[in-house]
Amino acid sequence: MKIDVISIFPEYLSPLSLSLLGKAQNAGLIDINVHNLRDQAVGVHGSVDDTPYGGGAGMVMSAEVWGRALDPLIEDNSDLIILTPAGKQFTQPVAQELSKKSHLIFACGRYEGIDDRIRQYYSQPDFVNRNIRVHEYSIGDYVLGGGEVASMVMIEAITRLIPGVLGNPDSLAEESHNSEGYLEYPNFTKPAQWRDIDVPEILLSGNHAAIAKWRSEQAQIRAEKNRK
Ligand code: SAM
Repeated sequence: MKIDVISIFPEYLSPLSLSLLGKAQNAGLIDINVHNLRDQAVGVHGSVDDTPYGGGAGMVMSAEVWGRALDPLIEDNSDLIILTPAGKQFTQPVAQELSKKSHLIFACGRYEGIDDRIRQYYSQPDFVNRNIRVHEYSIGDYVLGGGEVASMVMIEAITRLIPGVLGNPDSLAEESHNSEGYLEYPNFTKPAQWRDIDVPEILLSGNHAAIAKWRSEQAQIRAEKNRK
C-alpha cells in the first residue's frame, strides 16, 4: 500500500517510521511519504491560508495551495482522505475497508480547515471514473488542533490489518470492535498473583472450553459496563 500524507508540520508525522509501521516500511509492505504543504505556498508571504468568505473567526486553508499539493499525487485508484471533525466517524469496519486499498492520501487540515472546493473538485465524475474517491473522516467527537494526529491514528489502525504487518496475525482474531459492540475480555500475564490480586483461576485450569466461555462472558460484562 502506498500512503501519502500532506501537512504544514511534516515533522509531526515522524513517529510513522517507528515500531510496527517502521518495520512494515522496511519490509516493503507499505510505502509512506510525508509532504510539506508549505512547498506549494503562494504569494510573496508564502501563505497557505486566508480569511473565510462570509466572515467569522480564524483562517481557512487555500484550495489553490492544496490543489498544487494534490494534483501530482492523485492517480487512478487513489483514496483521498480529508481529516475533519465534521467527517464520518472512523471505525474498525472503515479501517478494514481502507486496508484493502492500494493508495491512500491523507490531507491534514489546520486552522478552520480546508476550503471545501478541494472535496468538491476531486469528487467530480472525471475522478470518480478513474476510481478516485474522496472521504471526510473524523477520529472522534472532539476537536484537535490539526489533522496530523488523526492521520496517524487512521494509518496505524489501517496498516496493522494488512497481511504481514503484524508479527502474529492471530492477534487480530479476537479483538475489540471485530464485530459490532464486541469488546475483548480482560487479559492477564505472569505472575499468577500480583499485590494480593489473583489471576482468575479458570485461566490456570487448562480447560480450553471453560476458558472460552469465561472470556465470552467477561467480554459481555465489559461491553455492558463500558458502552451502555
Ligand atoms: N473549524 C473546524 C470545525 O469546527 O469543524 C475545526 C478545525 S480543527 C481546529 C483543524 C484541523 O484539525 C481540521 O481541519 C482537521 O484536519 C483536524 N481535526 C480536528 N479534529 C479532528 C477530528 N476529530 N478528526 C479528524 N481531524 C480532526
